[in-house]
Amino acid sequence: MKLSKKIPAHTKTVEFNWCRKDFMVMCQKFRDIRSQSSNPMDSCFWCNHEFVDGEMMALAQPKKGVNKPLCQKCATLLLRGEEGEMKVVVVGTNQKDREKVAKVIKDKYERLAEMNEGLRGEEVRDE
Ligand SMILES: [Zn+2]
Repeated sequence: MKLSKKIPAHTKTVEFNWCRKDFMVMCQKFRDIRSQSSNPMDSCFWCNHEFVDGEMMALAQPKKGVNKPLCQKCATLLLRGEEGEMKVVVVGTNQKDREKVAKVIKDKYERLAEMNEGLRGEEVRDE
């Protein structure tokens, strides 16, 4: 006999100053330009969705760090949020699993943050 419930283990919150939902449309030209960069900006900063040609990309400025590309779904969530923040919650049935998942997310986030450092000082033009 047993009792089980899901317990939140880790919440990642990023606060933003602003979000522009219609930043620009993904296209081959943009891929060509960004392919020279350490951060190609070809996927959503938050959910890692890979942008396809013709897809509208959003851009948001976090309180810390450089501007981040977002997909429409995440931008909508961000704009809908009362305090302009996004959260990810990890649930699991045991402590070990929760720690493992939280670490993967933390590593992934830090790697993304490093990649985004490459954006500093670069210019991204609207078409
Ligand atoms: Zn997204």
